[in-house]
Amino acid sequence: MIILKKKQKKSWEIYPIGSPKGALNTKRTPEFIGTLKFKETSKGLSINKFIAKYPNDEDKLLPPGEAMKLLKTQVVFLASKDEEIENFLKSHGIKTRFTKICSHCTYEGNITIINSKFSYDYHNQLICKVCAEDTIKRELKLQGYDKKSYKNFKKILNKTGSLNEVLKIIDHKFDPLSNPNLTLFDEIKVKKTKIPKIPIFRLKIPKKV
Ligand SMILES: [Zn+2]
Repeated sequence: MIILKKKQKKSWEIYPIGSPKGALNTKRTPEFIGTLKFKETSKGLSINKFIAKYPNDEDKLLPPGEAMKLLKTQVVFLASKDEEIENFLKSHGIKTRFTKICSHCTYEGNITIINSKFSYDYHNQLICKVCAEDTIKRELKLQGYDKKSYKNFKKILNKTGSLNEVLKIIDHKFDPLSNPNLTLFDEIKVKKTKIPKIPIFRLKIPKKV
């Protein structure tokens, strides 16, 4: 499968990441990271340049036809909505599908496809579960927490589905007592026992007292 991610106007990144099977929530390292540079023609967009960057290798300039071959033979997913590229794909009979990808993984040149169930908002970016957990670990270390506390914070992440809530709790300024819904793991009910009234003469109080 191919992931297309907008870089800038008329420039897209292309990531070939293998079979779509099992790709959800799994980090994939692409075969190469390509850049497609488009140009405007009288018939709409056309690929002007196709540059492929292989791991530990220099950039390779490939014929635009190679990119077209990839797009036509693989399942193509767009990571950004864009009418221009959608029309371009459509005009070449390529079906457009959309997907969300983890921003953190993409910075490192990897692709993790995420869905709404396992994606976390972090500084207005969507990240995958592994990156959310790594963020918690990093923050705990930074704030000097014991490593063992990670387990509890992971539980809160699973419970709330919100990385920001977890980070708020890790932050020392957070008051756990005013947010019992996030920090309370268990509650022991206190039984109220009634103590009957007894006349004082019936109490066996020593005479001295
Ligand atoms: Zn990630």
